Amino acid sequence: MEILATHRLSFTYPNATIPALKDISIQVKQGEFVVLCGPSGSGKSTLLRLFKPEIAPHGIKEGTLFFQGKPLQEVTPIVNAKELGMVFQDPENQIAMDNVLEELIFGMENLGFTTEQMRKKVAEMVNFFGLNPLLDKKIDELSGGQKQLLNLASILLLEPSVLLLDEPTAQLDPIAAKEFIHMLQRLNEEFGITIVIVEHRLEELFPIASRVILFDNGVLLHDTTPREMVKEL
Ligand code: ADP
Ligand code: ADP
Repeated sequence: MEILATHRLSFTYPNATIPALKDISIQVKQGEFVVLCGPSGSGKSTLLRLFKPEIAPHGIKEGTLFFQGKPLQEVTPIVNAKELGMVFQDPENQIAMDNVLEELIFGMENLGFTTEQMRKKVAEMVNFFGLNPLLDKKIDELSGGQKQLLNLASILLLEPSVLLLDEPTAQLDPIAAKEFIHMLQRLNEEFGITIVIVEHRLEELFPIASRVILFDNGVLLHDTTPREMVKEL
């Protein structure tokens, strides 16, 4: 089933003379691992953000975005918040609380999970991510890589079906970046979570991605497998 799609999507920022996205039609099936690539300014971030109403840019939009076959504007904010997890470049800006355990619980509390459900799920997630040694730590004591893993764990506790990631490893050192990408691979393979990621670390992503979409100047140039894309680049 298609979990995410756009149909003839165009978007122009206020005051911009040319559109940031031009006539983009994409279908992403459940369980896919999709890499969005292309030069800076080609529209990748804009596309991801349009799926999240609370951070979507303002401007002139044409065409339609879909989640699970439904036009996005018919998806309630709470379903969007839960089902479409978003990870950004800067791990700092996404953390709301002062310590690790509070941060893990924060999002779940807002979505009305019971204490019992939260305790069980946090324990499972902490094990999966190997975060046990960090549970009592203050956020300030974590490395950038640990913060980004904490972000990912906090989002996963909401049981999203899709992860949208906008250059999540840009501020991590190479080892932390590798670890983060490996975690995405496990989430995709073991839990079937659909991944759509904007990333420059193509040599690490191509072996695990099922699809690569190349943008240039707001236009979709190629939508193909990593193997085929390597021939194009
Ligand atoms: P990418 O993620 O591929 O680097 P973006 O989606 O950030 O590309 O940008 C696409 C185009 O939209 C670029 O020309 C960029 O300058 C422009 N743009 C991005 N954000 C804004 C904004 N807030 N206001 C005006 N123009 C913007
Ligand atoms: P990225 O390439 O990582 O998507 P950028 O460095 O292009 O990010 O943009 C950083 C920030 O600046 C974003 O919030 C984006 O919306 C904003 N921005 C980018 N281009 C423009 C622009 N032409 N006018 C106003 N804001 C912009």
